[in-house]
Amino acid sequence: MSTDLDTWRELPALQQPDYPDAAALAAAVAELQSLPPLVFAGECDQLKERLAAVARGEAFLLQGGDCAESFDVRGADALRAKLKTLLQMAVVLTYAGSVPVVKIGRFAGQYAKPRSSPVEKRNGVELPSYRGDAVNSIEFTAEARIPDPQRLVKMYNASAATLNLVRAFTKGGYADLRQVHAWNQDFVADSPVGQRYEALAAEIDRALDFMRACGVDTDALSSVDIYSSHEALLLEYERALTRIDSRTGQPYGVSGHFLWIGERTRNLDGAHIDLLRKIRNPIGVKLGPNATADDALALIDALDPEREPGRLTFITRMGTGKVRENLPRLVDKVTASGAVVGWVCDPMHGNTYETANGYKTRKFTDVLDEVRGFFEVHRSLGTHPGGIHMELTGDDVTECTGGGHVIDEADLHQRYETACDPRLNRTQSLDLAFEVARMYRE
Ligand code: PEP
Ligand code: MN
Repeated sequence: MSTDLDTWRELPALQQPDYPDAAALAAAVAELQSLPPLVFAGECDQLKERLAAVARGEAFLLQGGDCAESFDVRGADALRAKLKTLLQMAVVLTYAGSVPVVKIGRFAGQYAKPRSSPVEKRNGVELPSYRGDAVNSIEFTAEARIPDPQRLVKMYNASAATLNLVRAFTKGGYADLRQVHAWNQDFVADSPVGQRYEALAAEIDRALDFMRACGVDTDALSSVDIYSSHEALLLEYERALTRIDSRTGQPYGVSGHFLWIGERTRNLDGAHIDLLRKIRNPIGVKLGPNATADDALALIDALDPEREPGRLTFITRMGTGKVRENLPRLVDKVTASGAVVGWVCDPMHGNTYETANGYKTRKFTDVLDEVRGFFEVHRSLGTHPGGIHMELTGDDVTECTGGGHVIDEADLHQRYETACDPRLNRTQSLDLAFEVARMYRE
């Protein structure tokens, strides 16, 4: 395979910012090239091995975080809450679903957004769309919407700060399984799902006491691995952070452990496929309702020619009305081809709609039903429902309707904070985890 890492430059590159100043872009890229890697090739290999277990049916992937991260984070609280939510969901899935859970955050790099329309209209004013903090500002002024290449450097710095905190939280004792109750403390009193979790945490405590009484060393449970991921959208950024691994001489994307190609940029003749096929990270590809089985097979040939389990994960996002009809033929043909890929359900992106008063939202019932459809399809084909890919936050936002604390369309304004797509809040996320654990066991 050719490892010329710049052939993508000759190919159609969708969803790229139109920078007004080429010299300013070159300066930002040169700066990025001089900076150290954010993640290490060995960590990417380790994740690839864990995703191979997902593809073989021996583990379950939980991937979650914001639709779009923001540079304006103000402290550690939001990230801590997000991690706590992921940890609680993972515990529910591991314990109630009895399956090892591979944990990946949609964070430390999720700053660039593909857009369905290049322009946005408000009160008769039309401006270029917001494309994520890595490109321009969400503020609705002509000036703010001009793409600024220095934002690529800010993306690197924001990713580094986030990863540093993630590593501190997950390795410094906070993620210790003996803390299962502590993650829930601010949550139990007013929430039925918090109480349900508390009961499960008590069972885990008893199991840990039992293990200790038997002389098992439980120190191994004192930290967890949570990997980073984002959509590899901005090719100048990803190229500047592609480095040759000194151990193997192979190129790796060092902007995040797991990189995915979005539904809008997975065209086979395009620049995104061309760059990502050359790096050795585990890779994801989103597959929407129009993806055909032949598209899936061609993506496997392009991205996983060596048929290496763990290399490729398909993240399907069909929508609740289509998953039962569209998913079987993809899974069927891919399975018949002999390729071993991971199948993961993104129940968010096929279920977005806009309310009469202008809020982009999703119904919790639709999200849950797409996951149910995903499980039904895999169960009937004898394949493995390998995981879920969620847009969620640890804060009590009101962005999706339904779930345990009933939120309806009229409540969305109360705490609608997302920079892009609507996320499940902590209650909704934990509710979902209990439901998915039940589906996994059934
Ligand atoms: C996303 O994950 O936020 C996204 C834009 O997804 P998709 O490419 O599936 O539309
Ligand atoms: Mn999104």
